[in-house]
Amino acid sequence: TKNHLEIIEEHESCVRSYVRSFPTVFTQARGYKMWNEDGKEYIDFFSGAGALNYGHNEPNMKKKLVEYILDDGITHSLDKATEAKSEFLHKFHEVILQPRNLDYKVMFPGPTGTNTVESALKLARKVTGRTEVISFTNGFHGMTIGALSVTGNSMKRKGAGIPLNHSVTMPYDQFVNESDEMDTLAYLERFLDDNGSGVSIPAAIILETVQGEGGLNAARFEWLNKLDAICKKWGILLIIDDVQAGVGRTGTFFSFEPANIKPDIVCLSKSIGGYGLPLALTLINPELDKWKPGEHNGTFRGNNHAFITATEALSYWEDPKFEKSIQDKAVKITDFLTNMVEKYPEMKGFVKGRGFMQGISSDIDGFSEKVCENAFNHGLIMETAGGHDQVFKLFPAINIAEEGLEKGFELIERSIKDTIK
Ligand code: PMP
Repeated sequence: TKNHLEIIEEHESCVRSYVRSFPTVFTQARGYKMWNEDGKEYIDFFSGAGALNYGHNEPNMKKKLVEYILDDGITHSLDKATEAKSEFLHKFHEVILQPRNLDYKVMFPGPTGTNTVESALKLARKVTGRTEVISFTNGFHGMTIGALSVTGNSMKRKGAGIPLNHSVTMPYDQFVNESDEMDTLAYLERFLDDNGSGVSIPAAIILETVQGEGGLNAARFEWLNKLDAICKKWGILLIIDDVQAGVGRTGTFFSFEPANIKPDIVCLSKSIGGYGLPLALTLINPELDKWKPGEHNGTFRGNNHAFITATEALSYWEDPKFEKSIQDKAVKITDFLTNMVEKYPEMKGFVKGRGFMQGISSDIDGFSEKVCENAFNHGLIMETAGGHDQVFKLFPAINIAEEGLEKGFELIERSIKDTIK
């Protein structure tokens, strides 16, 4: 008889990839730990690519969800009014938007990250009457054709097999390297300033403030401010894709808070459901909330189970100490990574990212991939990022116990040592 891994390999399309990078069969998970079918423990420094910011099977969310299910709460409702939806919207407004002085209408565009991006691009086109969108090198926005057309990754774009239209890719902040002084926005302004550049005024500019898949490139706050000013000057909508960098990943609920900007549209997904359940939100400046009912619909908008866990997840944000605790632990991550870079110059590494979105980029071909492979063998789950997989990326849950962080650090150091020798 075949084992589970063999059955999956036989029947699942060849598109599967994490089956290959983590060749084991997982059966259980709790907090920052996962177990395989032989009972081997793994520390999860991947967190479902940012979909499990509160860890696996978070007990309060689990309790609420189980109670709701046992009580025959509504599971599927299209976008009908449900108690679960109302409670989520109310708490999201009270706990997240209002205290941050943000005014958005919330739209449920479909279940996943790519759905929120797709809806943002569509809405921007509808309200501006323009078609082009500017996006950035190494940006990642999803796998549907619209989201892919603004994704700065040629390998992923080739997967669509057709030319992708209506998108112009501009160099992201510090595109060349971290000490890059090139004023990439000066170029953008020249493009926009009618100078025969061939680029028309776009409907929107879309970006991540820290590029999650693209290599943990973190835009400087001044750069974001300047970009925001350019958008305002030219009447271009600013779309921040916070699918990966949002929900506390950078240390604040929204990644753009420290830059003090208010995007016209914000895309949220991954950890907004809190429990790893699919949920996506498109936050829309009320002035732009111009779709007629039915202009953007879908069967799975508003997953009631995810509303239950998402509402419970917001309780973390009611605690005024929560953000500070993420930020304090993030300093430990920075310190650890800085120490690794100094202690092991052989890896030719430098620290990237911010908050709970940091990693090390190595100038040695294949180094980071090898670190992740060794880490897996030592019982730590971690992934690479960047166009050449040059970054190994630490993505623990933002509520991880310090002990979990320390254990993870220990295994990473062992994996670095193994890779060097
Ligand atoms: N935007 C960003 C910034 C992402 O990181 C991702 C997923 N990695 C997406 C959009 C797409 O989300 P999904 O995979 O849920 O469609």
